[in-house]
Amino acid sequence: MRVVRNVAEMRALASERRRRGQAIGFVPTMGCLHEGHLSLVRLAGTRAPWVVVSIFVNPTQFGLGEDFEIYPRDLDRDCQLLEAEECDLAFAPTIPEMYTEGHRTSVSVGELSEKLCGRSRPGHFDGVTTVVLKLFNIIQPDVAVFGEKDAQQLVIIRRMVEDLNLAVEIVGAPTVRDPDGLAVSSRNRDLSPEAREHATCLFRALRRGEELFKAGERQADRMIGEMRLIVDAKPAVETDYVSVVDPVTLEDLDTIRGEALVAIAARVGGTRLIDNVRLSIGE
Ligand code: AMP
Repeated sequence: MRVVRNVAEMRALASERRRRGQAIGFVPTMGCLHEGHLSLVRLAGTRAPWVVVSIFVNPTQFGLGEDFEIYPRDLDRDCQLLEAEECDLAFAPTIPEMYTEGHRTSVSVGELSEKLCGRSRPGHFDGVTTVVLKLFNIIQPDVAVFGEKDAQQLVIIRRMVEDLNLAVEIVGAPTVRDPDGLAVSSRNRDLSPEAREHATCLFRALRRGEELFKAGERQADRMIGEMRLIVDAKPAVETDYVSVVDPVTLEDLDTIRGEALVAIAARVGGTRLIDNVRLSIGE
């Protein structure tokens, strides 16, 4: 597996593939890879013969006081993990390579970026869409895979691709969970054993929402009330939101009539965690 650190070389290798008529699969990550990321790489491998994984802790998507400085980084370990997968190239650019002197442009998908996590992380999604568009322009992938765990991110990326006529297919991959239900995340390693145990209430709350839905509940406020009982029972869990929203517009729903995204965000022992499930009438 090749490791590329600069934009010009990445661009040249990708256009070489395109000239040969080979489709390019792409998985953007911030490194510190885990089973969730690797499942995306495997999915990309089923969709394209040449797979690029980017590893870049993007400074513009971290707000003031967030964990940019301490976000875990281990490129050697990441490359070892990728070697064992269907990854052909790891693109790990430096910050000056991605944000050259005088960089000013930012891409914003408007109000979608201000809902849910956007309320407590202003500017976060603009940082994400800007770096993802830059990576798409450098690599020009045919297909890019994103995790459903970051549901709002996936909604926003799909919107950007549609709005800007980008020639890339966006594929969502199911959330990988630990046996106790906790969604695998690079940030889970910051949890103490006790906080980790408390953190499982996020998934338990979502499962409760799902159970109620399966039993015929369609009123969002009643579902949210029941889910809140589960997270609020843990004083160490500081809930940011428990929401039932339209999975395309992210608008709050009063009544579920078709599809819904049930999303939750909370701080557990100082670590911000998110999770979600999709509900669909007729499934
Ligand atoms: P990150 O490195 O956190 O930016 O994540 C890179 C990609 O991996 C994103 O598309 C995430 O949604 C996805 N991802 C992270 N955790 C998981 C998980 N537990 N299951 C599936 N995908 C995930």
